[in-house]
Amino acid sequence: MMIQYDHILLQMLMVLFPIILYQAIMSDKRMGHKLEAAYWFAVCATTVSLCVVFTIKIEEGIYLDLRMVPWFLAFLYGGPAVGFLVSAFFVVIRFIAGGPGMVPAFVVLFICTLVILKFRLHFKNWSRPKKIGMSIVFLGFTAYSIPYIGSLILDVPVTKIRLIIYGVYIAANGITVWLAVHLLESYSEKSKLLNEIRKNEKLQVVGQMAASVAHEIRNPMTSVRGFVQLLSTSTALSESERSYLSVCLMELDRANKIISDYLSLGKNFDQEKLRPVNLSWIASQSVKSLSSYSLMENVEVKFTNDHHAVVLGVPGRVQQMLVNLIKNAIEAASPSGFVEMTLRKKGDSVLVIITDDGTGMTSQQIENLGLPYYSTKEKGTGLGIMVTLQIIKEMGGTWAVKSELNQGTQFTLSFPLAKQGEGSPAEAEERVYVSV
Ligand code: ADP
Ligand code: MG
Repeated sequence: MMIQYDHILLQMLMVLFPIILYQAIMSDKRMGHKLEAAYWFAVCATTVSLCVVFTIKIEEGIYLDLRMVPWFLAFLYGGPAVGFLVSAFFVVIRFIAGGPGMVPAFVVLFICTLVILKFRLHFKNWSRPKKIGMSIVFLGFTAYSIPYIGSLILDVPVTKIRLIIYGVYIAANGITVWLAVHLLESYSEKSKLLNEIRKNEKLQVVGQMAASVAHEIRNPMTSVRGFVQLLSTSTALSESERSYLSVCLMELDRANKIISDYLSLGKNFDQEKLRPVNLSWIASQSVKSLSSYSLMENVEVKFTNDHHAVVLGVPGRVQQMLVNLIKNAIEAASPSGFVEMTLRKKGDSVLVIITDDGTGMTSQQIENLGLPYYSTKEKGTGLGIMVTLQIIKEMGGTWAVKSELNQGTQFTLSFPLAKQGEGSPAEAEERVYVSV
């Protein structure tokens, strides 16, 4: 009985090679979900078979190899469906290989499958070091339990040389899964970062344009609006002429709103300006300011608030943020839908949950949220969400979105509550106006 280092190294290479290949092929592109699942199945199933072919034979029917690593990666990175397929594939291969070690291998596989289904639910929320640490622990236990359960069931004595082999085998599993998870996680972090940089670059370009162009347009528009308003007070106008002028004013206000959105993009926000604002009050004002719009779109808007929430922000911008989100929800729910905004305290934070039963979004549409000019509407500007996300960031808040096509969308914002010492908001200060 010898430690077959060459086989161990070969197996490590076989597990890691497809991951490196994946990163090289994918460098900048994205596969569709189905194609990615197919890739993971092909890679993991091939690696499992290769591991079995180059297995370390302890004695007739008892084999040690790294097959649990691709099996583990199949569940975590390919999803449960891929995981079950790879497990089924492994059962077939192990059955063909036969020998007395088959029963312990199946027992371990069954127990590990139960554990990994729970494990994967928490996995995506962990930090990279915790992911790596827990993966090593998982694989360490698995690698330990295969020979342990094997020797129990088969009644094989654990000799010194066997213990050393088991030790090397457990270490090989740990090292391989560490490298694999490290490579995959750093790759996904890198691509997330790249996406973020791309978004920010676009944002900067839009911001610069906004600052230079929008400001120039706004001045002549203000004087035009003033004269139109003056004209509309004239007594010499007929009823229809007056209605034309009011359409003029409405359209000028709409254009002004678009310019305001542009300008607030270019702004470099000063943290110092944040002050305690009554979020509950602003939220109810936002719903009120949209009441005629929701009536027009035939959408019922409900507001529930179980908490008097004070957060740090700038009243006008907080209202702008909420109005943007409610307005999108109304537009998605129209015609004859339902929108609900709820404020709820959660620990030291307040949650603002905006739900609609409207068109919903695909995962690709969700990914595009916040990109400048991204709009699926005929008359959309594609700036609302972008400004909203910027305001959330300024306020130190976070956001999440859940959406299903043709079912509806739910935006959940979370803001830290202002601490006692930070003062209470003056009501008069909050009488803000945001054009809708
Ligand atoms: P606009 O409203 O001018 O299109 P936004 O930035 O406000 O621009 O929104 C961008 C896009 O995000 C919308 O065109 C729409 O496709 C999508 N969207 C935003 N909110 C919702 C929602 N509640 N339901 C469905 N789609 C939404
Ligand atoms: Mg919008």
